[in-house]
Amino acid sequence: MHKALGLVSDVFDEKIIRTLRGEMAVGHVRYSTTGSSNIKNTQPFYVKSKVGDIAIAHNGNLTNTLSLHRELENKGALFQTSMDSEIIAHLIAHSQNRDFQDTVIWALSKLEGAYSLVLMLNDILIGARDTQGFRPLCLGKLDGAYILASETCALDLIGAQYIRDIEPGEIIFIKKDKIDSTRPFAETRHAFCIFEYIYFARPDSNIFGHNVYMARKKLGAQLASEFPAEADLVMPIPDSGTYAALGFSEASRIPFEYGMIRNHYIGRTFIQPSQDLRDFRVKIKLNPLKEVLNGKKVAIIEDSIVRGTTSRVRVKTLRLAGAREIHMRVSCPPLKFPCFYGIDFPTKKELIASKHDIAWVRDFIGADSLEYLSLEGMLKSMPLAKESFCTACFTGNYPITPTCRTCKKILER
Ligand code: SF4
Repeated sequence: MHKALGLVSDVFDEKIIRTLRGEMAVGHVRYSTTGSSNIKNTQPFYVKSKVGDIAIAHNGNLTNTLSLHRELENKGALFQTSMDSEIIAHLIAHSQNRDFQDTVIWALSKLEGAYSLVLMLNDILIGARDTQGFRPLCLGKLDGAYILASETCALDLIGAQYIRDIEPGEIIFIKKDKIDSTRPFAETRHAFCIFEYIYFARPDSNIFGHNVYMARKKLGAQLASEFPAEADLVMPIPDSGTYAALGFSEASRIPFEYGMIRNHYIGRTFIQPSQDLRDFRVKIKLNPLKEVLNGKKVAIIEDSIVRGTTSRVRVKTLRLAGAREIHMRVSCPPLKFPCFYGIDFPTKKELIASKHDIAWVRDFIGADSLEYLSLEGMLKSMPLAKESFCTACFTGNYPITPTCRTCKKILER
């Protein structure tokens, strides 16, 4: 096992990769939604137990974390991390079943909330998705070997063939070239995370069976039909707003331009910088093109607005570069509610649209106009039926009521 904080390319250099030998592997890039970002909380989470060696990689958030944690602690479980994912390993280890499939099914039957899981139990590779299917998980094949991945772009990049998505509620057991599939739980309404299409997933992935790039373009086209802008050019906030901006430009016939160039040499940092440094990073990440912007009326496309502070900096930068008017269009409705299923939104208090109306947000960010895509428009642009999605961060209608609505550091208190 090798784990560290940092970018994948920094953590796994060639020397490290050469030391990782074996016939089966689990990898994970952690985006922390429960517990702090520290080395203890990196995944895969690996333990030796009475049922054997377990390695777990988990995408999503459980909603009954606190009750399961207490129950297991009362039974003597010793926790090493503050991640909900560790609970799954303890449940497997506490199972009284003899058969390994029954052991996994029993453990997963205790979970509530969102999970797409890849786990190794001795020489078996297991993939599982919660019954509502919040997060994606797909199956591929390369040179006779099966591969599980969150996003299909991972398969493309290594030349693997996409086979299919793991179905909501499905568990698959892979041993060498044999696959066993089961769906042991009662079917429920699906709740695919619509935010995967808006922002989270990579545009070159197919999520829930459909392409993300195409979905984002449709969101942009719908936005143009609902809230046209009188502008000389349409520009994105790169990279995430690019695809909706293309759709907006096509539908409105306003030329698409890159009014800002992204600095690709700025990576993420795991060391929390000071506010000054954070502001500086926001500023140097995107450099405005004065030659494109000077004297122009600009329609700028954002995929979403969370706190509003970044949009405010962007608008100021565009004005300094000479933009005459700035009309911001957002390719989703206002984000008003936190997510309990694996997207790390801040608390309701910090979400600007939960406290203020659109006019207030427009003035705060300093745009001449601001419009958000309607809920109906967003759902209409999706490649799947509207009933299949979770939209809780926009509507407050949570598909599963979290038993304890609290912060991501729930297990650190
Ligand atoms: S609340 Fe929003 S971000 Fe969270 S799963 Fe639902 S749609 Fe996705």
